Order: sequence, then C-alpha cells, then structure tokens
Amino acid sequence: VAGAAFRAANRLFNNHCNLTVILQPTTKLFIDGKFVESNTSEWLDIHNPATNEVVGRVPKATQEEMLAAADSCSRAFQSWSETSILSRQQIFLRYQQLIKDNVKELAKVITLEQGKTLADAEGDVFRGLQVVEHACSVTSLMLGETLPSITKDMDTYTYRLPIGVCAGIAPFNFPAMIPLWMFPIGMVCGNTYLMKPSERVPGCTMLLAKMLQDSGAPDGTLNIIHGQHAAVNFVCDHPAIKAISFVGSNQAGEYIYERGSKNGKRVQSNMGAKNHGVVMPDANKENTLNQLVGAAFGAAGQRCMALSTAILVGEARDWLPELVERSKALRVNSGDQPGADVGPLISPEAKDRVNSLIQSGVDEGAKLLLDGRNVRVKGYEKGNFVGPTILAGVSPEMTCYKEEIFGPVLIVLEADSLDEAISLINRNKYGNGTAIFTTNGATARKYTHEVDVGQIGVNVPIPVPLPMFSFTGSRGSFRGDTNFYGKQGIQFYTQIKTVTSQWKAEDATLKSPAVTMPT
Ligand code: NAD
Repeated sequence: VAGAAFRAANRLFNNHCNLTVILQPTTKLFIDGKFVESNTSEWLDIHNPATNEVVGRVPKATQEEMLAAADSCSRAFQSWSETSILSRQQIFLRYQQLIKDNVKELAKVITLEQGKTLADAEGDVFRGLQVVEHACSVTSLMLGETLPSITKDMDTYTYRLPIGVCAGIAPFNFPAMIPLWMFPIGMVCGNTYLMKPSERVPGCTMLLAKMLQDSGAPDGTLNIIHGQHAAVNFVCDHPAIKAISFVGSNQAGEYIYERGSKNGKRVQSNMGAKNHGVVMPDANKENTLNQLVGAAFGAAGQRCMALSTAILVGEARDWLPELVERSKALRVNSGDQPGADVGPLISPEAKDRVNSLIQSGVDEGAKLLLDGRNVRVKGYEKGNFVGPTILAGVSPEMTCYKEEIFGPVLIVLEADSLDEAISLINRNKYGNGTAIFTTNGATARKYTHEVDVGQIGVNVPIPVPLPMFSFTGSRGSFRGDTNFYGKQGIQFYTQIKTVTSQWKAEDATLKSPAVTMPT
C-alpha cells in the first residue's frame, strides 16, 4: 500500500507540480492544503542573480492570510498531534524518497533564484534530505524514560510530546537545507508548522511543500506565508505559535529572539559567522590549500560555515602565493553553466557591500593579493558576480575582519604560534565554526579543547554535523539553548510530561493522611 501511495504521489508531483502552478509568475501561499494566490497589493520581485532578470514575484501576505494560515495550523494540530507516530513516520519515509527522486528539479529552482552552481544546489538539497531521513527515526528519538520502583509500588515515566504550532523563518543562502532543518523535525514530532521562507528564494520551499502534501501530510499540518517584517512580526506575536526556529543574520536573529521570547515562545536563532581556518606548518600542504580554497569561495562565500578567515601559523605564511594561484584558477560563471565553480551573489546590493568591504581592507592597510571586483562573465554582464578575492596582512581592528563579509573573499592573518591563533579566535564575537589543518594529534587536541567555537573541523574545512548530531554554533552565532536537528532538535520541538504512579496492593493502603514530604 505504501508503495502504491508513493507511486501515485510521485506521478502527481511529476504531472501537476510544474513550476508554473506554484511559482510563476507569482509565488502562491500554502494555506490549509491549498496553493492560493495572495490578495495583497504588495509584491516583491524575485531575480535570477546571474542576470538580474525578474523570474517571479512573491507576495507580502496580508494579515487575514497570515491569520488563516495560523488558524489552519491550530486546527490541524488537534488531529495531527494524535496521529500515530508510525503514521507520521510513514509520511516522512515517503517524503524522503520523493525528495530524492526530484533532487535535480529542486536544484534547478535553487540555481535560478539563489545563483549557486547546480552541483552545489544538489548538495544543498542532499544535506536537507539527510535531516528528513533522520526525522524518520522519530520512533526512537521520541522515546521517553522510565524508572520502575522509585519507592514501594511506585514507578515514574516520561512522555515526550509535541508543543503545538511551530514556525520557521529561513534565510536565502540554503533554500532547501535550512527549511528542511525546520518543518520536518517539528512536524514528525506531532507539531504543525508555519513556514516563512526567505522572500528572495521562496520557490524551493514551495516545491518541498507540494512534495510533502503528495507524501500524505494532511491539510493544515504545513502552512506557508511570505513576506518580510510584517510576516516576521506576525510569527513573533501570534499567541498560538509556541516555538520559532530562525536562521539568518544577527540583526534579524537577535530581534526575533528578543521579540519571540518576550511573548513566551521558545526561540532558537542561528546567526552570522566569521569562521577561522588555522593552518599549521606541519599540515599536508596540497590538501590544506585545496580545502581552504573550496571552503572560502564555494557558494561564492555565501555559507554561514564558509571558511572566510585563514590564520597562517609560522612557516605556513610561505604558502600564500600558492593559495592565490589556486584561487585564481576557479571559474566564475552563471550557476547553470557547466564547469562553474563560483556563481553570483544574491543581489546587486550584496555585491556593492562585498566590494566596499574589500575596499575598506585596502584603505585600512591590507594587501589585496587577488581582486575579484572587476570580473566579467561573458553573456552574464548584468549578474552580481565577484571573483575570488584575497586580502592578506589583515589585522583584527580592520572592518573586513570585524564584519561578516558573506562573499568570495578570503582574509588572511598571521600568527607566530598556535596559542596566538587560539587567542585571536576566542576574542572574535562569533562562534559558528572553525578548522585546524595539522598532521600533529597533540596540536589538534589542544586546539579542539581550547578554542571557544561550537563546531570544529580537524582537517575538515566545513564541519557541519550530520543530523544524528546537532548544529552547535555558539557565542555570537547562536541565541537560545537548544540547537537545530539531532537530539537537540527533537528536544526543541517537544515537551516532557512526567508521570509518577503508585499501584498498591489492597493490604498496603494508607491508614491515615500523610502530611510530611515523603522521604
Ligand atoms: P536575513 O537575516 O536578512 O534574512 C533571514 C530571514 O529574516 C528572512 O526570512 C527575512 O525575511 C527575515 N528578515 C530579514 N531582515 C529582517 C529584520 N531586520 N527583521 C526581521 N526579519 C528580518 O539573512 P539572509 O541574508 O537571508 O542570510 C544570510 C545570513 O544568514 C548570514 O548572516 C549567514 O551567516 C546567516 N546564516 C546562518 C546560518 C547558521 O546556521 N548559523 C546558516 C545560514 C545562514
């Protein structure tokens, strides 16, 4: 039966879920199981970052539409939270297969709206898919605890239960992976979900919603609204929403954390980063330089785990010329062109911002060893391209060090010792990710113990944990106390009910009131 349902769902997706239905020319809202046109008078254009052509429009949902979406979530919660865990698991088992079968379709939409290369867009989908696969282990992940015989005839046990309507607010840079960190985990636990995708890349979330519906998710279990500040405020304020998952910039993340928490909601807020790669002179040079270049310039540096800051320790300073040569060899092109390594930035404003941060480095005394500002991409002259750029001789007071650049810019600092490198990193406000490149186990161990960063790679440049672990960015990169996905994700989306029960034999019944605390 599951096989037949799955094949039917798959046919439905292939036959009816073409882009024109949900995406173009206008992105629909997804309310109570229907893809509906917004009645709003306010629309935002969606651009292809490689050409700046308008490829669609996204509505700023009206208050009535947002209320209808939240009400739909509230109604659906009544039955969804009581749906057996095995039924929820079956839906997500079908869902993971449907995503797998449509990776290329999803990747095409990502490249069109976000700009990253097709291969990288497939990686975006794949890393989200892994979270969905992990969500299918819900039957183990939601197990409670029991302790029998805590005293005579008395047992204590816990249930892990859903919390209600949950909401997700997503950024532009991972249109598949980050929404998939959110609603699958929330929903598989028995919550219903209100998603607000990034207004710049809504298409992928809409296709993912259609696939979830085709996998059997009942109407109202997932609703999608679009917009900017008004939609974010709605999520932070609506009383039915019990928890908010946010990923994006510090400016928005701090605001949403404060406003949502004030309204009594759980909030987890994954924010900006400045990830340092420490290169020790004993590292495997070939491997390290390739890792560094890939992690600094992949996705045009628009990853929260991009390795955007290198610290060359001791003689590793001499590797700079080779680092520049390898970076120069990357091909800048539209993401849908074969062989493209580095695609465009999301918008002309992002390009201007990155270019001005490069200039600030020059003005403040850094050495511009590779300048990607004037790169020209044939056939895509209007795109938001910046080529790989390297600023060396950077010091911690410079603006290009203090700010998250979020572009294809690698800044390089130097240190005389590992201690100096660690102290520099621990003074930086962010704590998302870091990596050390070394062949010395003791060096690696010292680093992993002393560096105050939430995710550490040893000879691994972008150490994003797989979903059986959690995404554990720390300090200025995170607000909240429970992280995304893995055990912590399940914890975030559930609450515990603890039952203490006593079943006494008839002859052990209390003969008088017990007025003191039982000991
Ligand atoms: P963004 O903060 O501009 O947007 C994220 C979401 O917040 C969007 O849905 C947007 O509509 C909303 N938003 C934007 N500005 C807002 C404001 N002032 N008030 C309320 N809501 C607002 O982020 P972005 O540009 O889409 O994404 C890039 C940022 O996300 C980078 O800083 C990057 O490091 C960060 N990021 C972090 C992680 C992580 O896990 N730590 C992962 C991916 C991206």
